Amino acid sequence: MNDLQLLIDLHKRSNRQGPGGDSETRKAMELAMLGALEPLKIADIGCGTGASTMLLARELNAQVTAVDFLPEFIDVLKTRAESEGLINKISPIVGSMDDLPFDDEEYDVIWSEGAIYNMGFKKGVGDWRRYLKPGGLLVVSEITWTTSERPFELQNHWESEYPEVGTASSKISILENSGYTPVAYFTLPDHCWINNYYRPMQNSFSEFLARNANSEDAQTIVEAEKKEISLYEEYKNYFSYGVYIAKKLG
Ligand code: SAH
Repeated sequence: MNDLQLLIDLHKRSNRQGPGGDSETRKAMELAMLGALEPLKIADIGCGTGASTMLLARELNAQVTAVDFLPEFIDVLKTRAESEGLINKISPIVGSMDDLPFDDEEYDVIWSEGAIYNMGFKKGVGDWRRYLKPGGLLVVSEITWTTSERPFELQNHWESEYPEVGTASSKISILENSGYTPVAYFTLPDHCWINNYYRPMQNSFSEFLARNANSEDAQTIVEAEKKEISLYEEYKNYFSYGVYIAKKLG
């Protein structure tokens, strides 16, 4: 298995592939005040195995297009949607977030949890805007500094992982300069990282290593995840995921 396949193998069994939570997805739904726009057409971009997709489809009068570039994650999402009787409200698509098969002004809502960093926040919010109807809503979560200064080790780690890591004010300014009105912002609480993401991942390390014959590549992946977890535990006062809700200007 190559590294991508190992990462898929580690993450595809999890409910979420990044920090988040059902109550936080629900909170974002409420802050976006989507009820007025129902019935909704929603795109969930970088949906993974579909934690947010399922909630949006279950709780809203909506048709949800769920896009991820990994067919393995889309397959899990399909199975989940079928077993919950939600597949008629979900259109799963294997595709890339920087080459979406969407029409201009097709969607009322663009949703994306923990995924926009793959193309970069600035490019993502800029490029995706055309797919929203005027007055449509963008809901994205993005790693965010929660203080103006931070320890060097932490800054160094995240800047090398993701050079666009920044404060909420810098992200909101990007939204303002990309044709959106910011509507709301909140940060994901600790349980979204620990209970919903890191702990289930930690609990799966030994089975993951066993499945992959304890290979050096598998061990390297586990070590990298452990490093990320310990950085989070040590420095969680300085960063989190921010959830940004913004409306496309008319
Ligand atoms: N939204 C999910 C998954 C977040 S992890 C959740 O919150 O649980 C980021 C997701 O982005 C992964 O599923 C990954 O496969 C997907 N991804 C990465 N690059 C992508 C790209 N270029 N196009 C589409 N999806 C991509």
